[in-house]
Amino acid sequence: MMKKIIISKSRYLAGLQCPKYLWYLVNAREEIPGPDFSTRFIFSQGIQVGEYAKKLFPDGIDLGKVEDMGMQLVKTAELLEKRRPIFEAAVGTNCVYSRADILRPSVRDQWDIIEVKSSTQVKAEYIQDVAFQKYTFLQAGINIKDCYLMLVNNRYTKRGEIEPAKLFATCDISAEVDEALTGMGNRVEDMIEAAGSPEPPEIAIGRQCDDPYTCPLKDRCWEFLPENHVFNLYGNKDKAIDLYSRGILSIEEIPEGYDLNLKQQIQRECAKSKKPRINRGEVTAFLEKLNEPLYFFDFETFSVAVPLYEGTKPFQRIPFQYSIHVMESLDAEPVHHDFLATGDRDPRRELIENLKEHLGDSGSIIVYYEFFEKGVLKELAEAFPGYRSWVDSLMPRIVDLYRPFGDFYYYNSSQKGSASVKSVLPAITDLSYRDMDIADGLSASVYYLYACGHYKIGEACPAPEEAEKVRKSLIRYCRMDTGGMIHILRGLRDSLDTGAGLS
Ligand code: SF4
Repeated sequence: MMKKIIISKSRYLAGLQCPKYLWYLVNAREEIPGPDFSTRFIFSQGIQVGEYAKKLFPDGIDLGKVEDMGMQLVKTAELLEKRRPIFEAAVGTNCVYSRADILRPSVRDQWDIIEVKSSTQVKAEYIQDVAFQKYTFLQAGINIKDCYLMLVNNRYTKRGEIEPAKLFATCDISAEVDEALTGMGNRVEDMIEAAGSPEPPEIAIGRQCDDPYTCPLKDRCWEFLPENHVFNLYGNKDKAIDLYSRGILSIEEIPEGYDLNLKQQIQRECAKSKKPRINRGEVTAFLEKLNEPLYFFDFETFSVAVPLYEGTKPFQRIPFQYSIHVMESLDAEPVHHDFLATGDRDPRRELIENLKEHLGDSGSIIVYYEFFEKGVLKELAEAFPGYRSWVDSLMPRIVDLYRPFGDFYYYNSSQKGSASVKSVLPAITDLSYRDMDIADGLSASVYYLYACGHYKIGEACPAPEEAEKVRKSLIRYCRMDTGGMIHILRGLRDSLDTGAGLS
């Protein structure tokens, strides 16, 4: 006898992305890797935003703590009689089950569904999410009138206590939801069938593996690809999908006549020659732009949905750390400065005061991806207008070390189509971020929030020794970013003598 399969909202959304993902979710959940530390932080943001949304419905009744599915259904059925807002209202039939963030009484016997998201924009997957809820509620005999998204309003500025009425922007998505309902019954049936099969369906890898989210099974499904595969081609994935469908898996195998843009042609050339390619003229011009002393500079920032500090907005970037290596010349001994906020107050004023001491009056300020550092500096100048002219004076000094790599003036196949500092560093030097406790910017921001008690695991703040350990890892990480840039710049210069490529 076939086992009974219920399609829940998370299963439905997984099934829309890929039937194979749905199959694992239903039949072999233990084989799906769990969310990492940074992803769990993003989930926690959603929970925090949801709590603020509930404050807008003071007569609401919360079923969020009821864990047993049967009990959720019973309690919801009881509460529907009361005609009051219900948080986490649950309904189900013999094949679908769903909960609504907020079920609000509308006219007569009708109800509205309100979905709360810690995001500032309507996304296609949110429409599908709410459409599935509406479908389930209708199937369960509950009359739904309108559907709304409550999104975070990024124009809100914190003044005093958080004001939930201003923190959110509500958006009527009823028409889009009704459109997405078309064919839902058939889709649900197809999903039940796919999930009920004894083996996972054969699904070719493709665009769906990263759309709308990176599938947690990606490492497993993509394992068979060769090291330098066609999905590493720079740019959108159309060509990779076309090549893959023709059985061409590695960049090296792409035929000469195939339509590639200049950067992609460089990738094929490097894959075949097994050597880096250097555009000597452009790299020389880049190096000649540099003025000594050299300041290698990097910020770390965090952003949270519910602003922490006075005068800040949702998701505003708050710089909390920087690292600077100063060198009289590229071969001189670097002098290091850093700043890491204490975490008990808005770090920005103290940070900009220190930064002014450390960035000197002249010499190139070398950053990796200037839009980020310039953007954060301008936001600091807006918050602290007394520093505006100083910040303006920094702009012409900023040189973007990303450029020679982003423009493929230097390219090595081991970068796999990426010009990020994490890809370039091991390609041009023998250094890498591989063994570091904190190895990317998102993790740095989440660990910082954790160390200073703004992101709690359960209800607990980290013990002081644990917080201190995190702080040391943060300092090591940010120092690696600027120290790594020194090695990248030296590697770029040295490649003019040693590498292959254009003259
Ligand atoms: S990695 Fe791609 S093919 Fe594999 S289950 Fe996920 S979406 Fe489907």
